[in-house]
Amino acid sequence: DVYKRQVSNIVTFAGRYTGVRQVTLAENFRSSEGVVEVGKSVAERIPAGSRLPKAMVRAGHQAWERGDLIARDFTDAEHEAAWICDRITAMRGLAFKDTEDGDARGLSWSDFAVLFRSVAKDADPLVAEMRRRGIPYVVKGLNRLFDSPEITAVVAVFRYMVDRIDEADLWALWHLADLLPADGDWQAAVAVLDEGRDFARGERWGVYNIQRIYLEFLAALGVREETVPGDPVRRELVFYQLGKFSQAISDFEAIYFNTEPAQKYESFAGWLEHQAPDYYAESDSDVGYATPDAVTLTTVHQAKGMQWPAVFVPCLRKNRFPSKRQGGLGLFHVIPDTAIADSDRYRGTVEDETRLFYVAVTRAQKYLFVSFSPGSNRMFQNRSPFFDHCASQQWFSTRDTGLPAEAPRLEPQTRQETPNVTFSFSELKYLFECPYQFKLRFLYGFNPPLHEALGYGKGLHDAISEVHKRALAGDVVGNDAAEDLVRRHLHTPYAYPALRETLYEAAVKSVRRYLNEHGSTLDRTVHSEKQIQVHVAPGVTVAGRIDLVRRLDTDELAIVDFKSTARAQDEDVTRDQLHVYAVGYEELTGERADLVEVLNLDEEGKTIREEVEEPLLAAVRTQIQDAGDSLRKNQLPRLPSWDAKCSKCDLAELCRDVPAPEQSARRATSGR
Ligand code: SF4
Repeated sequence: DVYKRQVSNIVTFAGRYTGVRQVTLAENFRSSEGVVEVGKSVAERIPAGSRLPKAMVRAGHQAWERGDLIARDFTDAEHEAAWICDRITAMRGLAFKDTEDGDARGLSWSDFAVLFRSVAKDADPLVAEMRRRGIPYVVKGLNRLFDSPEITAVVAVFRYMVDRIDEADLWALWHLADLLPADGDWQAAVAVLDEGRDFARGERWGVYNIQRIYLEFLAALGVREETVPGDPVRRELVFYQLGKFSQAISDFEAIYFNTEPAQKYESFAGWLEHQAPDYYAESDSDVGYATPDAVTLTTVHQAKGMQWPAVFVPCLRKNRFPSKRQGGLGLFHVIPDTAIADSDRYRGTVEDETRLFYVAVTRAQKYLFVSFSPGSNRMFQNRSPFFDHCASQQWFSTRDTGLPAEAPRLEPQTRQETPNVTFSFSELKYLFECPYQFKLRFLYGFNPPLHEALGYGKGLHDAISEVHKRALAGDVVGNDAAEDLVRRHLHTPYAYPALRETLYEAAVKSVRRYLNEHGSTLDRTVHSEKQIQVHVAPGVTVAGRIDLVRRLDTDELAIVDFKSTARAQDEDVTRDQLHVYAVGYEELTGERADLVEVLNLDEEGKTIREEVEEPLLAAVRTQIQDAGDSLRKNQLPRLPSWDAKCSKCDLAELCRDVPAPEQSARRATSGR
């Protein structure tokens, strides 16, 4: 646990080194006085020697009111879960101000978080109650994902593929999960699976692509965000789950892509059943800038750095939180304590748990509810000292008298902010091209099917980069180095043997041609793979690498991007993007580039060379800023109608009807 080590290292740092000056940073909370004071009191439980003398300062405008902080104990977990749900339902719509000067809004589902010491061990009763009441929730980390009826239905698709269930069972599960679109074509969807599981039809193994089957099944059934039964909140949530499942497929397929198909699907079904639920450990963080409007259920560990208007910390059971030291075999059954200086640093201590509890309580901006109910195991029958600590604080009430009748209420509205967005260049490209494709890929997490040529573009790129890096070090390579460069850099793990051979030859040819054409100017390399960051607007950063910066014979400075059309993951660099590079380069070095160039590494490829345009630089900045704003507002619409970008969009079927003439072409490029 990095967090743990960091704290103990920092605390003892001054003692271990000379000449250390300690500067204490005040921590700014946007929390009410009640929450800040409780946080302080928790921190004071840590002996002074192990704690940084952090000055906790209340920087927010939230006022503490009696009833904001409640500590309650229950006779069982079901009553505790029911109370949490009652509270959330009652508080939804309560007027809340995010900033002192801003307008008040009504609290929405996503303003509530429930923090557990262990989601896996304690969250079940609450999940069941929320599901029963139809309260939308997301569980951070993927492990609970596999318990949802939606994912159970999706997993069933792959159980059907290997004959573990029949079509009627599959339909029943999709029906139960309420996933069937009103006009969905079930027969067409099952036909996709039947074709996919005809493992004897003798195509090359890469064609039996799990991700492709998954996406085609959804497409044939007509699953789109707007056809998912329910309201927009549920639709987003379902797409979020389906996207996460797509990621799980990618993780599996990255390793088993080239396994014999029948065996691959068999292993996948087994993996989904036995390993996947645990494979996604609780520490897995979610990708994405915005979460759907839903209550967050997460571990305290994962909640670091975040705040919510209202936070619940339930299941405060002795031996759970603070967690009892782990039994069983561990490092200390092999190495005696005495062999390691300061051995406590290497295991969880009560202080670490207290720090964690401090994290938990300070996630609340205004409302903080801690609670206890006995667990099912004998170990967890008693209240945690953390619960008693809270109950003894004057800021807490130990009885819930409900919300005051006169409490102002407003329409529930989600918080309109996404802290610190950092785009990579390729994310930015998607956002510029089509905001909805960006949403499908990066917010929901859908991945396109693995392409068999994957790795080609990167390998080529890395080979050319080495050429430039060596040139910078004074070692200008000749074109006889091409084979060696490609041999060392090209890895195409998903290619079948004939394709691998073709890709290898194509790469050698490209590198050789590049060296022939540019060998004499290699000594004019200024930078290779230059890391840049562009701070576009407060909280919006673009980070990435410029392939090459070189000086031309004309003495002009050019920013260069390499392109290869055969590159499996199309990185069609637009003029706008090149101007982002130019903005970043100038921010970093203070030097203005004169030109932007695209050097195409393919034989027929087109080279682009254009002057950096001043107005475009400004326009690009505005464009990125707007992109950041639309992301924060979750306004990520589709393109108005089918166009050339849609033809190249890997996820088009999840978005809209594909025109008939395009359909067969898309099937062909998908590998069949
Ligand atoms: S099909 Fe077109 S509109 Fe839909 S996500 Fe893809 S690019 Fe965007």
